[in-house]
Amino acid sequence: MSTRILIVEDEEALTLLLRYNLEAEGFIVDSAARGDEADLRLQEQVPDLVLLDWMLPALSGIELCRRIRARRETERLPVIMLTARGEEGDRIRGLGTGADDYIVKPFSVPELLARVRALLRRAKPAHVANMLIAGDIELDRVSHRIRREGREIHLGPTEFKLLEFLMQSPGRVFSREQLLDGVWGHDVYIDERTVDVHVGRLRKALNRPRQSDPIRTVRGSGYSFDEMFEGEAESA
Ligand code: CA
Repeated sequence: MSTRILIVEDEEALTLLLRYNLEAEGFIVDSAARGDEADLRLQEQVPDLVLLDWMLPALSGIELCRRIRARRETERLPVIMLTARGEEGDRIRGLGTGADDYIVKPFSVPELLARVRALLRRAKPAHVANMLIAGDIELDRVSHRIRREGREIHLGPTEFKLLEFLMQSPGRVFSREQLLDGVWGHDVYIDERTVDVHVGRLRKALNRPRQSDPIRTVRGSGYSFDEMFEGEAESA
């Protein structure tokens, strides 16, 4: 799933620069040049993160940030304030209205990207590019490596895809049919019991005796990755 970023900035050149660099990182970028326009946009669709300029026409970044925090749909939306103001008082005021981070213009693009990634990691661990981490399990989507408590876990390609698919949406229950679509693909005719076989193999590889099982079987529905999974061993 792609991560959406909304840029709210009235300097067109800066918007273009940010858009270019964020898109190169694989983000989906949307932009608004006015505060009121951004306010409306946010009521239509909530992105994963907002880059918010302080000084904007029609509605200031500070006021927009207040509105973002006041609305239930966006109260936890990650916001990074962009501003030419570097005074400590302004910084405190910016953070005081609910911005998660604050970056002073002119800034370096790599630094901004690092802050975006860091904030997304804090806000939504599953969205950050290459690693899926839950409790003591780490799944690296690029090198296809999985570790549990630091121990390397060897999985077949199907079990890997299955775990990756489940870990992307912790807590969500998938039916066997949805898992077949998501992991095996739409045009494949496979018996739904095949899913059970692969879940069984995945559990066998993943769980040592006394380690808790991150895969939850939901009777009559399917499977999910346990959103409460902490990785600690079950008490005897
Ligand atoms: Ca501005």
